[in-house]
Amino acid sequence: MKIMVISEKPDACARIAVALDPGAVRRSIQGMPYWTGKIDGNTLIFASSLGHLYTLSTRVPVYPVRTYSWGPRTEVERLPRQLRESINMFMRGLAALDSEIDLYVNACDYDLEGSLIGYMVLHRLLQGKDQKAKRMFFSSLMPQDLRQAFQRLQPLDSANVEAALARHEVDFLYGINISRALTVALISVGEEFRVLSAGRVQSVVLNWVVERERNIRSHTPLPKWLLKAKMNADGASFEANHLPGAVLDLENAKKVQAESSGKWAEVVRTERRLETVAPPPPFRLGTLQADAYRFFGLAPDRVLEVAERLYLDALVSYPRTSSEKFPREDPRVILEGLSGILPFKKLAEDLLRRPELRPSEGRGVDRAHPAIYATGTAPKGRMSGDEWRIYEMVCRRTMSCFADPGTLERTAIILRCADHLWETAGVSIASQGFYRYYEYSLPREKPVPPLQQGVQVFVSQVELTEEMSKPPASFTILSLLSRMEHVNIGTPATRASTIKTLAQRGYVEGPGYRATDLGLTVADTILAFCAEFTNEQMTRALEEKLEAIVDGKTSRSVVVEEVRRRLDRLLLEMKKNERRIGMSLAGKPSAACRLCGRQATPTGLCRDHEQSEENLKKAVEEWIRRHGGHLPREEVKKRLRDIPETGGWVKDLLFEKSQADGQR
Ligand SMILES: [Zn+2]
Repeated sequence: MKIMVISEKPDACARIAVALDPGAVRRSIQGMPYWTGKIDGNTLIFASSLGHLYTLSTRVPVYPVRTYSWGPRTEVERLPRQLRESINMFMRGLAALDSEIDLYVNACDYDLEGSLIGYMVLHRLLQGKDQKAKRMFFSSLMPQDLRQAFQRLQPLDSANVEAALARHEVDFLYGINISRALTVALISVGEEFRVLSAGRVQSVVLNWVVERERNIRSHTPLPKWLLKAKMNADGASFEANHLPGAVLDLENAKKVQAESSGKWAEVVRTERRLETVAPPPPFRLGTLQADAYRFFGLAPDRVLEVAERLYLDALVSYPRTSSEKFPREDPRVILEGLSGILPFKKLAEDLLRRPELRPSEGRGVDRAHPAIYATGTAPKGRMSGDEWRIYEMVCRRTMSCFADPGTLERTAIILRCADHLWETAGVSIASQGFYRYYEYSLPREKPVPPLQQGVQVFVSQVELTEEMSKPPASFTILSLLSRMEHVNIGTPATRASTIKTLAQRGYVEGPGYRATDLGLTVADTILAFCAEFTNEQMTRALEEKLEAIVDGKTSRSVVVEEVRRRLDRLLLEMKKNERRIGMSLAGKPSAACRLCGRQATPTGLCRDHEQSEENLKKAVEEWIRRHGGHLPREEVKKRLRDIPETGGWVKDLLFEKSQADGQR
């Protein structure tokens, strides 16, 4: 038999070829690399795609767009010349190799995108060869895994293909229609053409960022006071914090300070408790990205890129997974592999001595893959710094799952001085357990002085500091990704690029992913005229329907038709409001806010400045109350103007007021 095995990318193709036949020979056709080999008397041809070769487009020049077709990316997209030539080369090469093949195997990554990439090569490029095709299912590029997968070929996963087609088609319909509707509305009021994109998932995420931005810009800080005491016992000095925490009244805080400073305090009790910390579950993509960001400062897309490189080198398992479960294979094989790698030798050997190995696992599941784990393969050749860091982290995490819980001892000493309570707290490591393996998350020890109940301690000094309430933290790429994951919109493969698009369109900017004025305008317009579009529940409900296609509970045609009907209704609504949408996008309101020029209410302010004015009024009263009624209103405003935590919209109001006063 002559069998053609199709991979997603050339790297994976080379691995699969050599795994199935160590004597596989690299050849080239039309400039495209491919491999030939033999297995059990069959002739094998190993070729690869170059990621997605096809994409969606439409001939309809206006909206609504209800029809579309799949075409070669080289004909539809504006691609860099080199990429276009490479794709053409692979398309020609694959077609030239297709002769007298008895069986085709889709050996692309086992996820929706991989299923689609392989299917498009077979169905479109090789014209209907999906009829003679099977699917190869593997979660790592380890030779034994690949050989096993090839022995157990499965029928072509048409349900996955249907689900992937549906996801692309639904996203295409949403994206192109809403983007066109917004752009046309903008032109209808005489503005210049500019691309205003919107998307099914993108608009939901934009809405989160905009909501957060509103809270930051309208934030009015309030003061509170922290008390920290320096105490001395037997020549050792330590710090203690006032209980129960910050004081919301300046007079009160000063009273505590005066009554404690230079006085004796007594230890009223010492609290000790042991805290057991269970080993963490193995990594899924989200937790790997989170820890790599936290401990190495690596951006999530870089982590994915590195993890994919490690996967292609068969060092770690498939990284685009949501699973927190170990594979069913014997973990001893993995640990034995790791014991052959010098930095992990001792660690792995200690685990192998155990009579039983049971990993900690999390709740995360994935249809196709287990968690990300180290395969136990030793790296060959040189690794970049990032590659080693991620590799070591996955190896250590894999081992830590089999280790004992760690135990921390937390100590708190409570002291009394006059009527006031103080606390000094510390932590020490009672037993390392899994922290020995996963040392990144080992807490830093903080000792406490050995003080018994009844001991007298001298309070040499009490420090009083003022602190302002903070606005909510802006997003990070990580908090955005984890929120998308949490509410289950988008896929592990697409989430990061959705966020990137928001930045490319100028809707968000900076490392804090802060919404820009344009972002606010677009989000507000969508919210005002097609709110359904940013509805999280609707977006998630659609995700669930897309997933149901995989289970055969619904079909692509049903889901896509439902989306068409929903869009028809939404777009009709948008058409009716075209001019108003255009005015809103162009920033041409019927009445302009005197501070920012956006749509104003009869008060002369936009809703955001109105809300900020209300916040400000309440905050000024609270400031005065917290100062025992002794702070002049003008003084509060002056201070709020200078505080960095004060939101931009609040500052607009404060500066307007001070200018008006200056002119008077
Ligand atoms: Zn305004």
